[in-house]
Amino acid sequence: MERDIARVLISQEQLAARVAEMARQITADHTPPSIPHGDEITIVPILTGAFIFCADLIRQIPLHIQIGLVTVSSYPGSSMATKGSQLLGQQLGDVRNRHLLLIDDILDSGGTLKLVVPMLQELGAASVKTCVLLKKDRPAARLVHADYVGFEIPDEFVVGYGLDYNNYYRNLPHIGTLKTEAIERNA
Ligand code: 5GP
Ligand code: MG
Repeated sequence: MERDIARVLISQEQLAARVAEMARQITADHTPPSIPHGDEITIVPILTGAFIFCADLIRQIPLHIQIGLVTVSSYPGSSMATKGSQLLGQQLGDVRNRHLLLIDDILDSGGTLKLVVPMLQELGAASVKTCVLLKKDRPAARLVHADYVGFEIPDEFVVGYGLDYNNYYRNLPHIGTLKTEAIERNA
């Protein structure tokens, strides 16, 4: 797996340090008096890509949180550009009047957030904030706001730390680009 990586963009140590910082910020923003006492948040990772980031993040957020799940597909199979975001499923429970924090691995075209945020609002959430580990440096991504952003990265296709190519490489501990031969072999 490691030998398929052309270039590491973000190391395991950089990921750990930034995720800890983001957890501190999110905790501070959701601790009274920042929000009224008794207000709770529901954290909603977008599967599959956000599961590793979310697992590392929430274990450093010592608040009374619930978890809801949504599954969205935007890069089905071995595609390396979005095919349009599609909601595949959800396990949200009752989110009416709850403050939600939506977590995604990467903000690219923005299609995923534009699909999921309004859906959560329609379900009656009190508020919906967004948190992404990565944001691509491209015009479409710049037009879409996320409340918390881990890293800005160049407009390249990346894998690792939850992000896949054809459902492989999610378990890579860092974020990197793939060698062309690995793309061809795993397509
Ligand atoms: P958007 O909807 O903003 O275009 O893209 C978000 C989704 O597309 C992410 O949740 C992720 O699943 C997928 N995606 C976007 N860029 C990349 C990338 O560089 N690598 C991988 N593996 N997935 C990506
Ligand atoms: Mg995704």
